[in-house]
Amino acid sequence: MIFTTRFAPSPTGPLHLGHAYSAKCAYDLAQAAQGRFLLRIEDIDRSRARAKWEEQIYDDLAWLGLTWEQPVMRQSERLAVYEAALDDLWTRGLLYPCTCSRADIAAATSAPQEGAPLLGPDGVIYPGTCKPVTAPKGPRPTDLPLRLNMAKACGLIASPLQFVEEGSGASETITFNAADMIKGVGDIVLSRRDMGTSYHLSVVLDDAEQEITDVVRGRDLFDATRIHIVLQHILGLPHPTYHHHRLIRDDAGKRLAKRDDARAISKYRSEGFSKDEILGMLIP
Ligand code: GLU
Ligand code: ZN
Repeated sequence: MIFTTRFAPSPTGPLHLGHAYSAKCAYDLAQAAQGRFLLRIEDIDRSRARAKWEEQIYDDLAWLGLTWEQPVMRQSERLAVYEAALDDLWTRGLLYPCTCSRADIAAATSAPQEGAPLLGPDGVIYPGTCKPVTAPKGPRPTDLPLRLNMAKACGLIASPLQFVEEGSGASETITFNAADMIKGVGDIVLSRRDMGTSYHLSVVLDDAEQEITDVVRGRDLFDATRIHIVLQHILGLPHPTYHHHRLIRDDAGKRLAKRDDARAISKYRSEGFSKDEILGMLIP
């Protein structure tokens, strides 16, 4: 297999220094390994994705000196693949519909005897309100959010739950178990109402389709990786090696978010910064 990395931005705002760092890490690793560097536009959130941000991503990355293979994968063109995977999981009894609102979940988790709601990689851990005793029958509802029955999913996996993490430069094996997933992550949503998919489902299917051997991304996604490993197991997909890199923080130590437009690459460009000055800011 050819060493292959990717940069997978969501076109929901301008690229900032944190994105430039992530893209550059993935690009440099691929270059060093004489491998491939791919781009993927994660535009499943149709309410927030904009063509102008997608254009800006291409423009900024090219300006930073990065090159990538064509064609670029766009998640909005892969909905049929996500639906096929959901159909498969549904048929295997691994999904169930849930229309609980955030308020419903908060109310169900804030019973005083249960203490504060536990947080997982996807926020408050779902208390299982809608979880059926037996798997729902009939065709998959396409208009309702669908949750993964985590206990059932983990029960199907015979091999140890683990992944290889190389973000520190050394190779570590991160191990976790089914109980961590059931208690610490819970029944996450795999199909969102307005998307017909979710970040987690799309990302594992796309990494497999693009034959990504090495996922390079920020440490903020480290906890989500356990979810991706479980999904790869139940969908029969390969497990890439992971490189979770440090996050670029602003002067106040706050993680840069896309709404911090002050750190947008395009803003630096319009102020006359050179590519090397930007890349210089990314060195620890
Ligand atoms: N699209 C995600 C983001 O913009 C990145 C997903 C990933 O690298 O797995 O944060
Ligand atoms: Zn529910």
